[in-house]
Amino acid sequence: MSDTPLPETPVSGKPFSGKPLADRIAVVTGASRGIGRAASLALAEAGAHVIAVARTQGALEDLDDAVRAAGGSATLVPLDLCDYDAIDRLGAAIHERWGRLDVLVGNAGVLGKLMPLGHVDPKVWSSVMDVNVTANWRLIRSLDPLLRRSDAGRAVFVTSGAASSCRAYWGPYAVSKAALEALVRTYAAETASTPVRAMLLNPGPLRTAMRKAAMPGEDPETLRTPEDLAPHIVRLASPASTESGMIFDFPTGRVLTPQKPA
Ligand code: NAP
Repeated sequence: MSDTPLPETPVSGKPFSGKPLADRIAVVTGASRGIGRAASLALAEAGAHVIAVARTQGALEDLDDAVRAAGGSATLVPLDLCDYDAIDRLGAAIHERWGRLDVLVGNAGVLGKLMPLGHVDPKVWSSVMDVNVTANWRLIRSLDPLLRRSDAGRAVFVTSGAASSCRAYWGPYAVSKAALEALVRTYAAETASTPVRAMLLNPGPLRTAMRKAAMPGEDPETLRTPEDLAPHIVRLASPASTESGMIFDFPTGRVLTPQKPA
């Protein structure tokens, strides 16, 4: 755990106490480990019923145990996000059971392989785009009507500094996150006159399996953890958070407004 105090930001306010998300319904993708698991647990502790999506059933069941131990509740959805019809079925099932969705955390992502653009296997390129971009578009396509039925629908998508740093060898991942940012900003524009708010979240380097794969020589103990980030996801998911179309940058604690052309 980092001891670094987080600065106040325009959307942060004071840390929540009590159950700020009581009775709210939240979908979290990539809930089986890393950022998604910590977010799911924090949302459940804040009172939300969490619909936890990932492929690894055993890890989802571990999450369910932790959620119950914390006094919360979850619905487990073992699902490959590249199965786009299954995303549509998820939307239909949420509509049938709850009739609305209050929170969508589009967190699941894959790194692909780090290598020069000219060496990237087309299958790797496609798989990164499928999970990091197309699945999030399909989630919006399926769940937007339900978010609009909430009194304060909140969508939070996890991006990366790679979207703008454009480092050598991170091509597919960087391109996918830049596309995700365009997707979410477009969705924010399309929902501007509704109660729905759509934000991006840049976690910065955190102690997860993905970071370990990207930086195998790094000492994980030097990194902040998904649990450090999770309260900010709870905050962005709450009706009190009203920014849209911007990036909450966890490393600096600032809300970044993307530059628009003149
Ligand atoms: P992680 O530990 O590797 O977790 C990735 C999650 O995505 C897992 O729960 C995985 O679940 C899920 N997932 C991947 N492919 C999927 C698929 N086809 N269908 C369903 N679920 C799938 O990664 P993380 O570090 O927590 O990353 C979470 C997000 O943060 C990602 O979008 C990542 O790009 C972003 N991010 C992370 C860092 C960092 O330093 N950690 C920095 C910047 C951005 P299953 O394998 O069980 O399906």
